[in-house]
Amino acid sequence: MTQYEILKHYFGYDSFREGQERLIGAILEGRDVLGIMPTGAGKSLCYQIPALMMEGITLVISPLISLMKDQVSNLNQAGILAAYLNSSLTPGQYKKALEFARAGQYPIIYVAPERLMTEEFLRFALDPEVKISMVAVDEAHCVSQWGQDFRPSYLKIVDFIHRLPVRPVVSAFTATATAEVRDDIIDILMLRQPEVLTTGFDRSNLYFGVISPRDKYGTLVNYLERHKGESGIVYCITRKVVEEVCANLIREGFSVTRYHAGLSDEERKHNQDDFIYDNAPIMVATNAFGMGIDKSNVRFVIHYNMPKNMESYYQEAGRAGRDGEAAECILLYGGQDVVTNQFFIDHNQENDALDPITRQIVMERDRDRLRKMTFYCFTNECLRDYILRYFGEYGSNYCGNCSNCLSQFETVDVTEIACALIRCVQSSRQRYGCNVIIDTVHGANTAKIRNYHMDENPCYGQLARVPAYKLRQVMNHLQLYGFLTVTNDEYAVVHLTERSGKLLDGEETVYMKMAREQEYTKAGAGN
Ligand code: ADP
Ligand code: ZN
Repeated sequence: MTQYEILKHYFGYDSFREGQERLIGAILEGRDVLGIMPTGAGKSLCYQIPALMMEGITLVISPLISLMKDQVSNLNQAGILAAYLNSSLTPGQYKKALEFARAGQYPIIYVAPERLMTEEFLRFALDPEVKISMVAVDEAHCVSQWGQDFRPSYLKIVDFIHRLPVRPVVSAFTATATAEVRDDIIDILMLRQPEVLTTGFDRSNLYFGVISPRDKYGTLVNYLERHKGESGIVYCITRKVVEEVCANLIREGFSVTRYHAGLSDEERKHNQDDFIYDNAPIMVATNAFGMGIDKSNVRFVIHYNMPKNMESYYQEAGRAGRDGEAAECILLYGGQDVVTNQFFIDHNQENDALDPITRQIVMERDRDRLRKMTFYCFTNECLRDYILRYFGEYGSNYCGNCSNCLSQFETVDVTEIACALIRCVQSSRQRYGCNVIIDTVHGANTAKIRNYHMDENPCYGQLARVPAYKLRQVMNHLQLYGFLTVTNDEYAVVHLTERSGKLLDGEETVYMKMAREQEYTKAGAGN
């Protein structure tokens, strides 16, 4: 059968989606591939179809048992023989599966990375009767220490491939697009001149919104009331918040369920099924929920707290609208979210095993990512554009389908505010963080400011009439556009850049989109 016939016959689809054909074609030519496609784009077919066309066995390396089970049962339902080998099988079942595999029963076998280098599995894989024609690595970003889900067991994949008598085609797939992770995948898996394909990360059916509500819970309830009958996910930052929000919503009569790593396996499975089958159309969960979930009619993903970075945010938000219909991704920002995420970075036990230098680098990277996530919550520019630029693509500056594009902003000249902030950084000799700078120009009368003698700084109180949160917006804007920079260490000290000098010299001006009522720029900036 041709790839088109297989697509129709087994999967029931008439045409390929963007990128699928090219990746399948490259694999069939015997080339390694790296497919970077957003969640829901259809990565699985890219290795499943060639697997059915190639002679021999395709091993699919997958990080999660639940993911493997879903994929295998989907394939079995489609009439394709496939199996999985992981710790959920009894030793007897495992032996039996290997026997069938050796007899050539399965063109596709899902295997957990930990299994690869075990004696029993190697005996099978190195059997002269067995031909492994492709190793497909799903969620390939797990090989990268720079990725968010590093799995040491993924490092065994390349050792395993080296052991095979004939090198198979190696195909790798991920939804994580950043350049460092992509390079890591190619290097660590030792892909040979791979065909690298990135499909558009834009999901035009998704609306993006950021709200900074005074009352988060009230805002959530209000939203849910206006979206009765729709299915959605509410992501919370900790198990505790999941418990609170879930219990409160149940009390108010919403049909919700919950998911986090602190629940028993049975309860997680049960709740997940309730959600998938719409018994409980609203899922309140931590980020433990979602990988491998393919529920097409999720109409909204609300982040009750800001996640730790844009990668997580886009992956989680991207679970909305997989059917291509309109869906909403809304982030409820609160200042405490930054503090909590900062705490997680500073106390991340996963980093304890790292040597001090790597640990330092990882923490600085995480702080930098958190800062860029925070900027997303503060920017008045097109949110979709911000996301796409973060992932290295270019948007259009105006998508017409995000809370910023749909708000009334005016572009205002904030040069004077910017200069006051920069002068404050300069006159305090680049020793303090954003908060001290903002409090100083705002003229805050706090113990901290007095201790640092910032109340004696020439900039003290210079912008007293500009609300602090607006000073913060300008401060963020200045960092985002390189007028100021912040060190990535614990103290996040603000520093001057070349551009700050140009601004003070009057060679540059700073324009920013601001909400309409912000008339203070005229009233406040000069004082
Ligand atoms: P990913 O692994 O990229 O997140 P999946 O492989 O799980 O995505 O595919 C997401 C959904 O899209 C699945 O339901 C899949 O059957 C469907 N799909 C994949 N390719 C096509 C296609 N060419 N036409 C229609 N639907 C497709
Ligand atoms: Zn927009």
